[in-house]
Amino acid sequence: RTREVEPDRYVDSVCPYCGVGCQTRVAVKDDRIVQVDGRDGPANENRLCVKGRFGYDYVMSPERLTKPLVRRDDAPKRGDIRVDPLNPWDVFREATWEEAMERAAGGLGSIRDTHGGGALSGFGSAKGSNEEAYLFQKLVRAGFGTNNVDHCTRLCHASSVAALMEGVGSGAVSAPFGAVDDADCVIIIGARPNQNHPVAATYFKQAAKRGTKLIVIDPRGQEMNRFAEYALQFKPGTDVALLNAMLNVIVEEKLYDQQYVQAHVDGFEALAAKVRDFPPEAMEAVCGIDAQTIREVARLYAKSERSIIFWGMGISQHVHGTDNSRCLIALALITGHIGRPGTGLHPLRGQNNVQGASDAGLIPMYFADYKSVENPDVRGMYEDAWGRQLDPQRGLTVVEIMDAVMEGEIRGMYVMGENPAMSDPDQTHAREALAKLDCLVVQDIFLTETAWHADVVLPASAHAEKLGTYTNTNREVQIGRPAIPLPGEARQDLGIIIDLANRLGLDWRYDGPAEVYEEMRALMPSLDNISWSRVEREGAVTYPAKAEDMPGEAIIFTDGFPTKDGRGKLVPADLVPPDELPDAEYPFVLTTGRLLEHWHTGAMTRRAKALDAIEPEAQAMLHPRDLTRLGLAAGDAVTVMTRRGEISMIARADRDVPEGMVFTPFCWVEAPANVLTNPKLDPYGKIPEFKVCAARVERADA
Ligand code: SF4
Repeated sequence: RTREVEPDRYVDSVCPYCGVGCQTRVAVKDDRIVQVDGRDGPANENRLCVKGRFGYDYVMSPERLTKPLVRRDDAPKRGDIRVDPLNPWDVFREATWEEAMERAAGGLGSIRDTHGGGALSGFGSAKGSNEEAYLFQKLVRAGFGTNNVDHCTRLCHASSVAALMEGVGSGAVSAPFGAVDDADCVIIIGARPNQNHPVAATYFKQAAKRGTKLIVIDPRGQEMNRFAEYALQFKPGTDVALLNAMLNVIVEEKLYDQQYVQAHVDGFEALAAKVRDFPPEAMEAVCGIDAQTIREVARLYAKSERSIIFWGMGISQHVHGTDNSRCLIALALITGHIGRPGTGLHPLRGQNNVQGASDAGLIPMYFADYKSVENPDVRGMYEDAWGRQLDPQRGLTVVEIMDAVMEGEIRGMYVMGENPAMSDPDQTHAREALAKLDCLVVQDIFLTETAWHADVVLPASAHAEKLGTYTNTNREVQIGRPAIPLPGEARQDLGIIIDLANRLGLDWRYDGPAEVYEEMRALMPSLDNISWSRVEREGAVTYPAKAEDMPGEAIIFTDGFPTKDGRGKLVPADLVPPDELPDAEYPFVLTTGRLLEHWHTGAMTRRAKALDAIEPEAQAMLHPRDLTRLGLAAGDAVTVMTRRGEISMIARADRDVPEGMVFTPFCWVEAPANVLTNPKLDPYGKIPEFKVCAARVERADA
């Protein structure tokens, strides 16, 4: 803010971006946000990164939707157009809320009544509150009559959650990232915290400066390597080769914790037999890391008194993402590096509420707290609570839903705060599916690329305009508070969901987010002793909590696991190659991800002036030697091609990108990376392989 502006009020809230969950103080003048500072929250201790501090003005963008829109009768077909977001009037016209909601409920309701609930689907959002996530999945399940409900967790940590549920009976982290303070050894694998969890990165760097040994493992180099004892840039897609080789060393050299394994873990013999086939000497050619280094990092991790593992989407976004996570779980379980201070397993969650949205049941196979929709007892409990018969079959996941649309099985979709037209793999296919729907209702704050395809667009609330709880990567439930009023006729998301539910035959009366939270809490043992008033009072409460007057448990699995028999389960992993490898026609590996300054599909950060000023332009990052080989220089226009499509952007020289790889973020609407990506799924987590596909790079024509 300019120094002369004196705020007229301050509002305590939380950051709307990543899963770190930094607490913020929002300064407001004349109902406009003028500055955001960090507060002394448990996850950030006054710190903020560039997104949290300077990325707030998207809320006040002139591009905000302020009135409901409906598709004009004379508009071109959905698949034929690309809407100019600043001038969508060729396609949409403004409508009253009554008309828009009648169209939305009428379209979705008639599909349900004609074709059954299975012809409908819903994509909720990890950016909404816990209460919104809970009500959204309740509407899809109880109002639509289907479990076809999912959100972007399917595109980030679904495979990690699948492996964690199988191995330790819980999909959440076992310890907060602050546990690095007590750790002797830290593995950071498939993650770039400096870009994607910047405030968490400050804790990792501090720990390294105090003497904690960091092992950073990622195909791309990164700033964190400067703080690392070991930095292993292995070949993309060979995670299981490297991790099984580390397990081989730990097993063969008897560095595992026999007592812990006997007391708490099943499956050791099968794991030991499997990893015998992965000696480091045989794996070095596969993964590109020499055998001696593999031995040293395995010994360092196993022999340290307290070791902890953090991972990101470099682990999860593969066809073998669940196998990758199984290997990490095996490392922790056989060494007993779990359930004690300075130890554990921590998948760094991406979005501000992806943990909470998953916990609240915004996924097709589970009700809240990961209770199976196929379990008749659980389903019966929900049927009693909600007064409706519920679908006994698990629903389809994000990419499966798009496939089902193309097959004609799904005809209607309700999207709240997600942008599958930009975030789904093989974007051309995803947009074809959106265009094929009989009815698409999009509820958002901007006319996103997904909204371009909609029949009805409902103007909704931004994070800074609403009250609700959010659960960060550390399992800390925190409150986000409204700082400024809604623009124009935009409405609260919670109110829109309730309105739609009532028009679809449900009789919902909620007095606000606190009442929704308490209903959700009654169905979620994980939130026992964490009442709304407690979260309001304390600002952040970690789940689980044993009593209202006791702090939550930051470290879990201190005495076994929440599995049927209380024991952890080792699941050996085979070496499965990426679905698509470079060849003569497509000689590069394409990998996608995020930038420090831009968030996911860019809907928010591309509209934040400071962030967009720093990174305004779509870029492909390549190693300087690859640029030279291609006869290119940094700043030249390049076209990146895969078997699914091509996009053009500016080439940037980046020594962190290994030779033979091209990296591009997926935030650029002008060069959407997901035109290129492979939709092939991990069979367990159903997550697409965003991290590896075969690509070609050429000078662009213009
Ligand atoms: Fe926001 Fe994450 Fe940055 Fe914290 S680290 S300010 S939560 S984006």
